[in-house]
Amino acid sequence: MYEEVRKKLTRISKATVYSNLKFLTQKGLIKEVNIKGVSRFEANLVPHHHIICIGCGKISDYESEELTAHSLRISDEIEGFKVESTDTNFYGFCKECMED
Ligand SMILES: [Zn+2]
Ligand SMILES: [Zn+2]
Repeated sequence: MYEEVRKKLTRISKATVYSNLKFLTQKGLIKEVNIKGVSRFEANLVPHHHIICIGCGKISDYESEELTAHSLRISDEIEGFKVESTDTNFYGFCKECMED
């Protein structure tokens, strides 16, 4: 009985957490990042890029004003579309995965 209740509570709180995250995303307080169908939420609203390990799936933030500015400059050349933001994904292997 107790187990059942606990399981239900866990399920409810997960749904609540998710809807809270959605709410914060809509408010622009956090950002939902979707990489290859995997969603994650983050509080880093500074334009930044991602370093993704194809070995273990770890995602790290990579901040580079220069790269952001450069990407936006290139985006200016896209006709008939106004670019508001851009991020670049770098795929490779993290230190842990390289040691294996
Ligand atoms: Zn890795
Ligand atoms: Zn990020």
